[in-house]
Amino acid sequence: MARSLVTIDLGAIRDNAARLRRAADGAELWAVVKADAYGHGAADVARAALDGGATALCVATVGEGVALRTAVPEARVIVLSPARADDLAAAREARLELCVSDGPIPDGVSVHLKLDTGMGRWGLSELPLSGREVVGVMTHLATADSDPLFARIQLERFRAATTALTDEVTRHAANSAATLSLPEARLDAVRCGIALYGVDPFGRDPGEHGLRPALRWESEVALVKRLPDGESTGYGRRFIAAGPTWVAIVPVGYADGFARSLTGTEVAVAGHRRQVVGTVSMDAVAVALPAPVDPGTPVTLVGDGITLESHTRVANTIAYELLTGIRSATPRAERRVTSCI
Ligand SMILES: *Cc1c(COP(=O)(O)O)cnc(C)c1O
Repeated sequence: MARSLVTIDLGAIRDNAARLRRAADGAELWAVVKADAYGHGAADVARAALDGGATALCVATVGEGVALRTAVPEARVIVLSPARADDLAAAREARLELCVSDGPIPDGVSVHLKLDTGMGRWGLSELPLSGREVVGVMTHLATADSDPLFARIQLERFRAATTALTDEVTRHAANSAATLSLPEARLDAVRCGIALYGVDPFGRDPGEHGLRPALRWESEVALVKRLPDGESTGYGRRFIAAGPTWVAIVPVGYADGFARSLTGTEVAVAGHRRQVVGTVSMDAVAVALPAPVDPGTPVTLVGDGITLESHTRVANTIAYELLTGIRSATPRAERRVTSCI
C-alpha cells in the first residue's frame, strides 16, 4: 500500500483551462504539460485541458511528445526545448512540432522559430528567412512574474523582430504570469503551465485569478510519540522538546518529494494546522502535536487549506520545483547499470 496518495482533480484542470482561455482574450490557449504535467500526469491533464478549450499541448522533449501522442492522437503537440538531430525521425513519426533555436531548419516537420529577446538561453538572435514549414515564431519571458518592465522590453524586441512576418505564422510569448498580468503579451497564443494546475505564478492565492488547485497530497500518521523535555526528533537534533512534546511521524520524506527544506512548514493533521519539526528525512517527517492522535489519522500535505504557495515560502523555492519533485512523475534520465572491474 502506498504511503501517500496524490489525487488530481481533472475538473479543476478543465476549469482552470477555461479560465485561462478567457484571460487569453482571443489568443489560443496552449497547455504546457512538460515534466509529466508538472507531476500531475501528462495524458490525463492533456485531455482535460483540451476539454477546457486548449488547442495545443506543449512538452519539453521529443520523448515526452512521443509518449503523449497515444493519449491524444489528434492534438497539436509542440516540443519547447531544442530537439536533438537523432530525435528528428521520431518527432516526424509522432507528428510533433519543433521549436528551433539554432542550426538548420529541419524538413518534414512543423517548426516554431525561437527568438532570444532577453532570456539569454536558447533562441536565435534574429529570424532567418522563413522556411515553408515555419508555423510559429516565439520567445520566452524571463521576468513575467517579477519584473513587468523587463518583460515589456522583451516583448518590444519580439514585436520589432517579427513585424515582417505574414499572418499565417502564430506569434507566442506568454507564460502563465504574462497571460494573467500582461495583456500585450497574449499575441496569437499563450503557453500556460503553472496556472493550469491552479497554482498562482506570483506565489499568492490562486483564487485571486479564479484558479483552483488540482493536486491534493495526503498521508497518515504512522506513529505518535512523546518526547520528554530535552529530547529531540530527527537527524542533527534540530528540534529539541522544550517540555514534554507529542510528535506524529508521517511516512513521507524527501525521497517522496517532501523537500528537505520544508522544516517549519504546516500540514493538516485531522484538519488542524500543525508544524513540521526537525529535519525532514528521506522517508519520514515529524509533526508537532498538542495532544496524541491515533495512528492512521489523516495528514494533508497539500490541500485542505495547506497550499503549495505556503510551502514554497518556507522552502524558499517555487511551486514548479516542489510539484515536479513529487514522486509520481515519470523518470527523465535514462539509467544504466554498470559494474566496474
Ligand atoms: C515551461 C514553459 C512555459 C510555461 O510556463 P508557466 O510559468 O508554467 O506558465 C511556457 N513557455 C515555455 C517556453 C516554457 O518552457
